[in-house]
Amino acid sequence: MQYMSSRGNSPEVSAAQAIINGIAPDGGLYIPENIPSARAEDFITWAQMPYQGRAEAVLQRYLGGFTPDEIAHCVYGAYNQTNFDHQEIAPLIELSPRMHILELWHGPTSAFKDMALQILPYLLTTSIKKTGESKQIAILVATSGDTGKAALEGFKDVDGTSIVVFYPAEGVSEVQRLQMVTQTGANVNVAGVLGNFDDAQNGVKRIFSNQGFITRLADGGIKMSSANSINWGRLLPQIVYYLSAYADLMHKGLLAYGEKVNIVVPTGNFGNILAAYYAGEMGLPIGRLICAANANNVLTDFINSGVYDRNRPFYKTISPSMDILISSNLERLLAEVSGHDSLQLNDWMKQLAADGRYQVSDAVRDRIQELFWSDSGNDEETIAAIRHTWEQYQYLVDTHTAVALHVYRRYQEKTGDAANAIVVSTASPFKFGSSVAEAILPEAVRRGQDEFSLIRILSEWTGCAVPPGIRDLDKRPVLHDTNTSPEEMQSTVARFLNL
Ligand SMILES: *Cc1c(COP(=O)(O)O)cnc(C)c1O
Repeated sequence: MQYMSSRGNSPEVSAAQAIINGIAPDGGLYIPENIPSARAEDFITWAQMPYQGRAEAVLQRYLGGFTPDEIAHCVYGAYNQTNFDHQEIAPLIELSPRMHILELWHGPTSAFKDMALQILPYLLTTSIKKTGESKQIAILVATSGDTGKAALEGFKDVDGTSIVVFYPAEGVSEVQRLQMVTQTGANVNVAGVLGNFDDAQNGVKRIFSNQGFITRLADGGIKMSSANSINWGRLLPQIVYYLSAYADLMHKGLLAYGEKVNIVVPTGNFGNILAAYYAGEMGLPIGRLICAANANNVLTDFINSGVYDRNRPFYKTISPSMDILISSNLERLLAEVSGHDSLQLNDWMKQLAADGRYQVSDAVRDRIQELFWSDSGNDEETIAAIRHTWEQYQYLVDTHTAVALHVYRRYQEKTGDAANAIVVSTASPFKFGSSVAEAILPEAVRRGQDEFSLIRILSEWTGCAVPPGIRDLDKRPVLHDTNTSPEEMQSTVARFLNL
């Protein structure tokens, strides 16, 4: 299968080349030229298989040119008991009848980014072998907090690659920051950007589109690629767990193929929920895709009005991985629902770059509203949802998952829809321990405690274990202390890569 650019001005490429390039030369995102299907028989087979078998079957359909052995090498290299602390990899937990939590944080960094970033290095190194690419690959990442650490863990000491991660210096949680600045590995680089996530992401996009810099890197034997969800190799592994969750519901006898489920996703850059959209286009029976946003509710407004407008205040919230005003992957959805109308798409993206605003046609808006429903929750509602979920179900959720639970409750109140729901849980509660502690622990217990004491107290109080990657984080040496302005990001990359 070939991949094309959402903006229509780049040559079609193989899956391997799309993964190596990351972003298309015209600045667009790679999308599959057609979406493969998954039928009733497939789901019936998958219902009897472990996660790895499901992943092999789905990846095979998208990775034309990869042999079954190569795909197996990628899948089993990533999804195993060394990297994941749950045998089912992405277990589906029944919270109450017809409400299921898809836990995506059993990987090494305790956030859902591991689901893609554990396998991306395998997909990339396999792609390099297949295309005969001889340059060293430099992975450039802008992170709102979780991608950075997951990418560092995935790519550390992977032959033929180096990695540079930029995070907003003041915009990540203490655990997220320490996870990154204590990262080991000979090929890893980390820098704080004096700005927010959009500044970091725009800085990385500028570097990717600077032809002079690309040439300079090429002369030094280096080619840049991306581990952000603009890379198709990031998105593809995320399609698997939605299909897998439905197969699990069938396996447990909770539904038969064809019955629709609602899927609730705490959303920032629109990558995770876009993977659910692709799963739906393949044949996963979806009622509504429920897009849950925090106070940075640009996507909620877009879905409800057809107007995307980033000209609004940026809020630092307790769900920092969703503090985003420019959701990159929306471009892929627009390409798909407009029938690959690249003229319209270029127009919208130009307006976004120039004015921070665009309005889609009524036809595109109506199609999006058939597929999606959206609402948002502020910090207070997030805390209330954590508390409520603990009191009602003795189930501990992180701040991002809590936004999803809050929005799902709103959805049910407004629509009365009682279909089975899959609520996506994107991080371990201990990754955002102080906010979770604020929701659960009495003020007297919390007073004067730092983040790591709170995590230990929270664990004792709830009986939930702290994941190993977080437990002793405050005792590890800090190995990265670079800070940079958005303007200096390119020279920082050059310095890290010894150019
Ligand atoms: C990245 C992230 C999100 C947002 O996912 P997108 O794919 O960017 O929409 C939500 N929650 C957590 C914990 C994350 O790390």
